[in-house]
Amino acid sequence: MQKFEILDKDVMGRICRIETPSGTFETPALLPVVNPNIPLIDASEMRKFGAEAIITNAYILYRTAKQEVEEKGLHRFLNVDIPVMTDSGSYQLMVYGDVEVTNREIVEFQERIGADIVVPLDIPTPPDSERDTAEEDLEKTLQREKEARDIISRSLLALPIQGSTFTDLRRRSAEAVKKIGGDVYPIGAVVPLLDSYRFLDLARIILEVRSVIRVEPIHLFGCGHPMVFSMAVAMGCDIFDSAAYALYAKDDRYMTIYGTKKLVDLHYFPCSCPVCTRYTPEEMKEMNKKERERLIAEHNLYVSFQEIKTIKQAIKEGSLFELVEKRIRSHPYLLAGWRLIKDYSKHLELFDPKIKKKFLYCGVESIYRPSVMRHVEAVKNIEFGGEVVVSSDFGILAEIYLRPVFGPVPAELMESFPAGHAEIPPEDLIEDEAIIQAVENLKKLMNEKKDVKFKIYVSKRWEKYMKELPENGELHVLSRET
Ligand SMILES: [Zn+2]
Repeated sequence: MQKFEILDKDVMGRICRIETPSGTFETPALLPVVNPNIPLIDASEMRKFGAEAIITNAYILYRTAKQEVEEKGLHRFLNVDIPVMTDSGSYQLMVYGDVEVTNREIVEFQERIGADIVVPLDIPTPPDSERDTAEEDLEKTLQREKEARDIISRSLLALPIQGSTFTDLRRRSAEAVKKIGGDVYPIGAVVPLLDSYRFLDLARIILEVRSVIRVEPIHLFGCGHPMVFSMAVAMGCDIFDSAAYALYAKDDRYMTIYGTKKLVDLHYFPCSCPVCTRYTPEEMKEMNKKERERLIAEHNLYVSFQEIKTIKQAIKEGSLFELVEKRIRSHPYLLAGWRLIKDYSKHLELFDPKIKKKFLYCGVESIYRPSVMRHVEAVKNIEFGGEVVVSSDFGILAEIYLRPVFGPVPAELMESFPAGHAEIPPEDLIEDEAIIQAVENLKKLMNEKKDVKFKIYVSKRWEKYMKELPENGELHVLSRET
């Protein structure tokens, strides 16, 4: 049964609607984690921050409030009417090494209390584990996931993907859970990667999983920092959950889309949420711990949901590349992680919409966008006469103009997307990579059209990259005066 619908797409990100027994929610979604016993912010309040669904821990409920929650049902117990996902105790398993419940018991419990999305008791294998351990854990996880599939009939089933930092095991895990058949696929045990800013490893895992799970929703388990959301969405993640808003608040850590600040270092709040407009950092530092913790948690939720909305708007207007290329500049490892998309260009090509309104150059990463690759392919299909004039100077009448990033742009494509709708810096101010890429694209075209003679006129900026032109090229360097 189809339980979700894709409404919009950009890069590898999507806006989806997921249908659960208690109603629908839209993705990209952030599910705040609610601790059922000591909620810093009550489940019933989460909607005001922008939450359309929440997540809580079934294992804690099972241990501490089993009878009450079984009688009342999960939603009445938490006093909410939005979809509730429950985690199974895997986190406790990772932290304490053991839990006092079987997979069958906790899965049946989750469905019995009315959880909208159920998670089996999978085994989270931390990053950098021994390969043998990762393989054994994975086998056990898959057994439990099969068992859960047989039990669950009413709720949606999330089947976590494990495999530690072994990309081939993550792939194997993704292929296996796809066969079992879940409704949502969480990528598990990545919190240690997030905590240590290992965004390159994280990106590799996400891209590998998305190349197997091509359609269904992917949940990045435990990812609650807004600085990562845009990159993760652009790589294909649909759902996030956040315990971070509360955990960070406990240590007076204030989230921003560019990273984390300590309250003690803040002289001004770089935010206009209801908390930050009402108080100054000085006032907040004076408060008692409990009050302060609650307010920072509120701010952390506001800033996280604001970023989710920013991402959704970017998907709607086809500018997710631009947003991500700005966001990744907040941390060098985020930048490194994003550059991995170069290796997945064929895969990216399948997802990214072909026509957009604009192409805004935001840095060298813009060169890797699929629209550049598609432009090169489109130019190859155009027929040219025996001799063509190519010019980097628009003042010269030419059949083909040479532009940084794209390379050869035939006059008839000068008004169409992407090259005709591209805003790029002037050629003497743009990075060398954009010129090098353009020359490579020109050489590709020349090699493709061996019987055409290319008379190439370029400014000084291009000259040193024009070495080793194919034989059908004749180079003229324009002096400043022409
Ligand atoms: Zn704020």
